[in-house]
This record gives sequence, structure tokens and C-alpha cells, in this order.
Amino acid sequence: MTRNRKKISEADRRFIVGKSGGRCNKCRREVFVENEFGERARLGDDAHIVAFSDIGPRANPQVDDEDRASARNLILLCKTCHSEVDQQPKEYSRDKLAQIRDEHYAWVEESLGNSIIRRPKFHYLYYINIPRADMYAVVNSISLPNVRFEGATSIRKLGMDAGHLMAAYTNVINHEELYANELKRETELEELAIGSYWFSPASNFRSKKISEQIDLVSAWKKLESTIYRKFDGWKLFCLIDPRWITTATAYVTLTDGTLTALGLVHINSVDFENRIAIASPLFLGAPDNGFFQ
Ligand SMILES: [Zn+2]
Repeated sequence: MTRNRKKISEADRRFIVGKSGGRCNKCRREVFVENEFGERARLGDDAHIVAFSDIGPRANPQVDDEDRASARNLILLCKTCHSEVDQQPKEYSRDKLAQIRDEHYAWVEESLGNSIIRRPKFHYLYYINIPRADMYAVVNSISLPNVRFEGATSIRKLGMDAGHLMAAYTNVINHEELYANELKRETELEELAIGSYWFSPASNFRSKKISEQIDLVSAWKKLESTIYRKFDGWKLFCLIDPRWITTATAYVTLTDGTLTALGLVHINSVDFENRIAIASPLFLGAPDNGFFQ
């Protein structure tokens, strides 16, 4: 039996691409890519939830052609995910696909307030706040390696395992896009919402005394054990928890007085009277100067 496939309208195509943020609704990979020569490629499909034919995956002869071609019945998927869902129709039922799509649309909407920071470049990690980094990964659906931290009191005390842990997290940070606002010279203190994530590109920081035996609660109150960066009219203080300093070398750098670093921070509080923001870094690293690839 043959049937004329009702064409998907341009308006519906654009609608689902827009709602999807240009990403596969299942794995969130970008579906539209451009290379260094400016050549573009579309690596995805407008996949049908109810099959366009009566015998395809998730077919339902009761749904008419017009509904089969409408945006309500479509989900933007990359080629890999499209093959997967069509070959595994029991696992990827109509309801399941509609749910995957609706959750993806909600995620795109939620992420809209944040810009995407692509692959921050750095060659050495000074600092990885494991609990904060894990939380960020969960919120942003980034898969994390299974790293054994166990009872160690600091990353530096892990010895050989510290290298594995740093490599694992470096890999995550280098291969995922980060959802955060970028701190610019002209960023105003008033823009920093508590709980938001901000990315600091390579900048000059100053360090206050960071002691290994620091009492973090009192250090917090006195703004010790921090590194800070100056903006026009305010300062960003990043609280340094000595447990998350990666190596002895990093320890020396962070306590040296000045350093150049980049990283991702979580805003904990904002003090408008004293014109300061206090943040917890998720990671801080040395910028990639092109010699360390
Ligand atoms: Zn996909």
C-alpha cells in the first residue's frame, strides 16, 4: 500500500527547531553545524512520533495525514538517536518520545537566561570543587566520570589518584558546553543573581592568605582564603576551600599574591553596601597559552 506523504510545513519545521534550541531532543547534540570553511550541515531529522506510514514504527492508522505531519507529532533528533528510537519502538513508545520532547523544550526555555560558554581553554587545573562541580553537572545533564574520592581529606592527599581525578574533570569541562553568563569588564554587581553561575575568562586575580589549616567559616566572614578580581566599582571574591586545591604547585600559585586564572563560579551572596560578591568556584585553571594542548 502506498500513500502520499503529507509534507511537513516550513513553519512547523522552524517551530520545532526553535523550541529545540537547534539540538537533538534526546542527546542534546547540536543538529546544525558549521565548519571552518563556513560549510553547514544538518545532522538531524524531524522524526515522526506516530509513523508517517501505517506500518512504520509507532504507527497508528487512526491518526490522519495532517496530524502526522504537524509539529505536535514531530521531534527533532540527531541521526543516531533517530535510528535508535525507530529500531527500538518498544522502548521508545509514542508517550515516551512526547515526554522526551516536552522535557527538552522545558530545558531549552530554562537555559535561555544563560549563554553557552564553549570549551573553556586551560592547560592546568588549580582547583576543582567536587561537590559543586557534580551539582552543576546534574543540573546541566552533563555526564560525569565515576571518580573515587573516598575518605581523602583533600585532592592533594589522593597522591597518584589526584591525576586521574583531574584528568576526568578536565575532560568533562573541555568537552561540554558550560551554561553560564560571562563576566565582562562592564558587568554590574546588580546583574549577579544569587545562585547563578558565571564564567570568568582569563583574568588577573589577587590572592589573600590561603592557609591549609583554615577555618572556613571564620575565613568566610573575614574574606580570607580567597582570590579576588576587581571590576568597575565592585569586587568578586572567590572562596578557596583548601580541600579542592589540586596539587602542591597549584597551592603555591594560589597563595602567591597574584595569578592569572579562568573558571566557573557560583554566586553565593552579594553585599551591595560593600560592593562585593562572594562566590564558590567550581573550577579554576591556568589559561591555555597555546603551548599546552
Ligand atoms: Zn541525538
